[in-house]
Amino acid sequence: MCSSPSKNPQPIRPLVIAHRGASGYLPEHTWVAKAYAHALGADCLEQDVVLTRDDVPVVFHDLILEEVTDVALLFPNRLRADGHWYVIDFDYAELRQLQVHERMKPSDSSPVYPHRFQARLDFKIQSLANELEFIQSLNRSTQRSAAVYTEVKSPAWHRTHGKDLAVSVLRVLADFGYQGPQDAVWLQCFDAAENTRIRFELGSKLKLIQLIGENDWQESTTDYEALRTPAGLQQVARYAQGIGPWIPQIVTWPSLGAAPVFSTLVQDAHAAGLAVHPYTFRADDLPNNAPDALAVHQALFEVAGVDGLFTDFSDVTLSYLKALDS
Ligand code: CA
Repeated sequence: MCSSPSKNPQPIRPLVIAHRGASGYLPEHTWVAKAYAHALGADCLEQDVVLTRDDVPVVFHDLILEEVTDVALLFPNRLRADGHWYVIDFDYAELRQLQVHERMKPSDSSPVYPHRFQARLDFKIQSLANELEFIQSLNRSTQRSAAVYTEVKSPAWHRTHGKDLAVSVLRVLADFGYQGPQDAVWLQCFDAAENTRIRFELGSKLKLIQLIGENDWQESTTDYEALRTPAGLQQVARYAQGIGPWIPQIVTWPSLGAAPVFSTLVQDAHAAGLAVHPYTFRADDLPNNAPDALAVHQALFEVAGVDGLFTDFSDVTLSYLKALDS
């Protein structure tokens, strides 16, 4: 179907992971956002993946459509009783009719990030297959190899709808040559049971990242409190190559002007042999009380020693790392 991807040219410096593309500048998960992140020099381009009614893996963050598309205008009667339009209730051909736009607050439809791109233009939802072909073609035309960084979203929820998301994602990745531990791909999931299944039952050889949230987010039934302990991290190391924690699980600023306070998570993960790729740096939405973007980067890279960072602003993170290098 496509040429095999180049092997992962692991940079010596930490990885810059373009969170949903260059989403600080363009609507998340659109091709323009991916092309721009590629041009900015991100090492990895992220895909969140969910399934359509006709079983097409598509690159989309939410299970519901209305916060980043015009679904309510085009399909006013296709909402469920809970008031949401679900990706899984639509065929791919229907989803392709939607326009993707910047994220809006469900409460009043105002932009979540007011300074970001606001025009309503003809941006489309893409299948995972189209996205991988797009990235591999960009890698070819620019002679620069960006890796893909693919998330299996809410696998247990998909299973309640009779769908096996992980199998669908692995199949498409394999179609594009992403099959082995050296390939330019990271696979990520919040659900520890699903990661274990991907490794041992489905036999995947891909590099795996165990995402770590807070238990009260209800991302999955995984107990993230237990996972974050040294013993929990040793368990994660049986099936994964790294963890993706939330930045405040590594460092917090207790009050304005206060020095940052660090957990032992990064050193505990490193002791277990795990890489650490926290999420998400946003220049326009810094962690609570953090003084500025530089302080966040210094805390994560120079003090905590993380191995990569999900960033909405690949250029900001890259220029920081390049300055550190020189
Ligand atoms: Ca994600």
